[in-house]
Amino acid sequence: MPTRVRFAPSPTGHLHIGGARTALFNYLFARKNSGAFILRIEDTDVERSSAEMSDGIVESMRWLGLDWDEGPLFQSQRLDLYRRAAQTLLEAGQAYRCFKSAAELEPQKSQAQRQGGIWRFDSESRDLDPQKAEARARAGEPHVLRLKVPDARTIRFKDRVFGKIEVESRQIEDFVLLRSDGMPTYHLAVVADDADLQISDVIRGVDHLLNTAKHILIYQALGMKPPKYAHLPMILGPDKKRLSKRHGASSVLEYKRKGLLPAALRNYLALLGWNPGHSREVFDDSSLIREFDLQRVNKADAVFDAQKLEWLNGKHLSQLSAQELLPQVSEALKSHELWSDEWDGAGRDRLLQGIELLKSRMRVASDFATLGRAYFSDDFEYDEAAVARFLDAPERQTLLDSLQELRQSYDDVESFDLESVEARLRAVCERRDIKAGVLIGAVRVALTGQPVAPGIFDVIVYLGKDAAMRRLDRAIRFLQ
Ligand code: GLU
Repeated sequence: MPTRVRFAPSPTGHLHIGGARTALFNYLFARKNSGAFILRIEDTDVERSSAEMSDGIVESMRWLGLDWDEGPLFQSQRLDLYRRAAQTLLEAGQAYRCFKSAAELEPQKSQAQRQGGIWRFDSESRDLDPQKAEARARAGEPHVLRLKVPDARTIRFKDRVFGKIEVESRQIEDFVLLRSDGMPTYHLAVVADDADLQISDVIRGVDHLLNTAKHILIYQALGMKPPKYAHLPMILGPDKKRLSKRHGASSVLEYKRKGLLPAALRNYLALLGWNPGHSREVFDDSSLIREFDLQRVNKADAVFDAQKLEWLNGKHLSQLSAQELLPQVSEALKSHELWSDEWDGAGRDRLLQGIELLKSRMRVASDFATLGRAYFSDDFEYDEAAVARFLDAPERQTLLDSLQELRQSYDDVESFDLESVEARLRAVCERRDIKAGVLIGAVRVALTGQPVAPGIFDVIVYLGKDAAMRRLDRAIRFLQ
């Protein structure tokens, strides 16, 4: 049987970490097995679904690079399929009409609960003569359609992640298949669709484990073979609570807006539950597809770590060329009001040099505009810790003298290149008898405001003589 999987989000909210992880695992499984990946929007809950959310999900999937082969299909456009499945179940005596409203069933339900059990069905409705029920339905009496859950059956399936699962049918009520307005419930629609689309493997969150038992009952009632199942572990915050914004988790579109790289998010999501079996953590798409294996998905809850996502983003970022990073970095510079129109013209190469110089140290695009501000603007602050460590040092006076001498020496230099800026700095250190590292630390703060930077001579040459002199003057004033 060919591999066919689907991602089936409900458009009742944005695509978040959990949903995106499910989508990715389906995508990787399909690609790895040369199968088909289908996108199906489960929008039968008309009140809670919106076209805007569907569009957002589609956009998120596109941005994440999870291209699907079929769809997006919308359940709201496939209602006939579900009604036909309902009719089949009704005719086979596997489903029945229940004319009792939720309010009428309430006393039975609360009594069952008080007795510590679950309510299973209303015998009167279950045993109603089908012809009479049919007549009442024709007469327009409101009703729902329920599955006739067998009394004593053990529902067994082998989950690819969670292993052997057994659920007793006694624990399952005669759940609703069609609502009184004729709309299918999730359970009916999902089974009818998965069967129609010949889905071979259902991969979804472990919160659906008990639904799977219900779905298998529907397959059995239809006389069909269920697909294989793989349930994915929960994703929690570091405090082991339900994942939320306060853990730094956001929607896919928010990550897009923040300038995160889709390749980094894909890489990070893959590690939420999947254990590659070795210590490598940075994966590009093709190595993910090659290595991904459902057998290596953990049962244990995965823990979301926003820092690690940023770290991985940095790793992916440094693998891109300055040219490839240009759109994100420009966006970040613009939003921090650091953009200079020169960079659209003759200054483009210089901008690219700045990006190249910084890229191995940046984690997210906005870092170029914050940590990297001094590389694009003269208007920057000294980082306090950097000042304490490198300018307010015990040898403050020596530093001041050395910076003045260096300034003088640079002023005289004819060709402001790597070799001469380095030679002149080292000569000053020798004459003043200070370690090169000490003077370099001070120069680094003077030129960039930061305690760490790329190789200092590269920085000096990148900034150019004029900017370097202005910034040395500023540090000299600061120390005086
Ligand atoms: N619409 C369901 C959800 O968003 C899909 C579950 C499934 O994959 O069957 O949770």
